[in-house]
This record gives sequence, structure tokens and C-alpha cells, in this order.
Amino acid sequence: MSKQEMPPETESATQSGLEKREMLPKLRLLQIEPTTRCNLDCIYCARRRLLEGGEIEKGDISTERVLVALNKLSGRVETVLYQGWGEPMLCRDLPELLEMAHEIGAKTTIVTNGTVFRPEVFDRCDSITISIDSLRPEYNTRKGSNPIKIKENIIKIRENYPDLPISLSMVVSQENIDDLEQIINFAKQVRARVRLLSQIGEALPPINEADIKKIESLVALYPGFVEWSRPEELHTNKEHPQLKNSLYVDIGGQVSIPYHETSVRLGRIEELDKITDQLIKKDEEAKLAGNL
Ligand code: SF4
Repeated sequence: MSKQEMPPETESATQSGLEKREMLPKLRLLQIEPTTRCNLDCIYCARRRLLEGGEIEKGDISTERVLVALNKLSGRVETVLYQGWGEPMLCRDLPELLEMAHEIGAKTTIVTNGTVFRPEVFDRCDSITISIDSLRPEYNTRKGSNPIKIKENIIKIRENYPDLPISLSMVVSQENIDDLEQIINFAKQVRARVRLLSQIGEALPPINEADIKKIESLVALYPGFVEWSRPEELHTNKEHPQLKNSLYVDIGGQVSIPYHETSVRLGRIEELDKITDQLIKKDEEAKLAGNL
């Protein structure tokens, strides 16, 4: 019998409420959108279109509402990821939001575009992912960004946080496939992992089969250091393994499956604890069924 399956009466009388809940099955990932504001305008990003079409609002999430919702999930979440249609660093209350996640016993992580250095944020992260598509100064797919400045920021983060796990996330297309090696060498220099993603849509010339083979051979060459995934699979398959036992909350407080925010509404942030319970139960049942 694993610790998670132990009945309450076998637990030590000295355990705190949070410690007891730590033993229960958890939500694997709670993704919360801190803001839809951004200082870049990447040509493959849907943010501008969604804002102009009125499909998402512009602004920051209510810190108060997150506080109330997270307090009801104490000990029930493995990791809280702050990421959405915007740059998390622009959210003033991001340090508080990260602290709230730690207070309920969750690990914290963010995905940032690397343009802003905020120590009060990094101090409260257990890991971070930084998006960078090229180190060439003239590369302007991520409109408004300066690859040299982002590179400097990444070096600064590593110097100031020697033990912080860092991943570099690169959206690969025909425009930057030849930059792969340089990105991998830089990642080695700053002790970061590399996550390669294909773009959603066709804003950039897409990679071809030969490029995919090249990527797959790199993944095989650097197991655990270079990862490769195709986000379009996440968007089209609600049963994708990466979406299992995960929830997404947007700035308006809508709860949904990550990457399916406009098509699958599960409820409001005020019901997040109930939605979480249902999802965990479903996940446990699926695991049991798989073990039979
Ligand atoms: S930095 Fe992120 S949110 Fe901002 S435009 Fe680029 S992809 Fe979209």
C-alpha cells in the first residue's frame, strides 16, 4: 500500500492538516492565466486576434479570487503554472500569486518571454521556462523583442539563481531551424533544458519531414535535455496525455481544460475545488481501471 492510499487512522497524530492532504491524490497541473497584457507581438501568437475578436478580455486576473480558490485547494495541487495569453511578468501581483501557490503546498513555475528581469518573481519560482526562438539580433518573429537582451537576461538569471531549473522554449519553423544548434549550445552554457515546439497555424513557413527527422535525432542524441512536442496535438486531442489531470483558469475566472479554453468550459473559479475533486476522482478511476 502506498502512502497515498493509507487510510486516515494510520497517519501520525502529529501531522498538520496540509501534511495529511499532501498524501491524497492531487491535481497534476493547475495553469492560471495571470494577465492577457503583453509587451511583444509574436507573429504566430493568437493573442491579438482573440483580443480583437472579443474572445478574451484584456487585463489581469483578480488576486483576491485566486487567493480564495487556492485556499480551498490546500495540499491538492502538484504544480501551479502561471501562463496564458500574455506575459506573466507584466502582472504586478505575480510574486503574491506565486507565494499563494507555495502556501497550499504546490510547486510553482512560469513561462516568460525573457524580456523582464524581476528577482521578486524568480525568488518564488521552483522552475521557469523562457521562450527564445533565435539568438540572431535581426530575428524579429517575436516582434518587439531583442534576442541579445533576452540572452543577457537568461545569463543574468543563471548567475543569480545557480540552482533554478531553466528550460528554453523554441518555436521551430523554416525561419529558425538552422538556429537549433546555436540554441542548444547556449542552453548547455546556461545549464538549461531545451523544449522544441512546432508552431500553431502557418504564420511562418512550417518545418518539413526532413526537419522533423533532424529534431528527432537531436532528441535521441540529448535524452532528457532536448524535448520535442507538437502543440497542435494538444489543441485537437482533449485526451492527450499531457492534459491529464490538469485545469486552466483564465483571467475572467473561467475554468477549462488547458489548450481548449474556448471550447470546453468546466465552470467558474469559485467552483474550482469541486471541479478539481471531480477531475482527480476521474483520474484515479482511470488509473484503477488501467491497473485491473
Ligand atoms: S510573448 Fe507570448 S503572449 Fe506575448 S505575443 Fe508572444 S507568444 Fe503571445
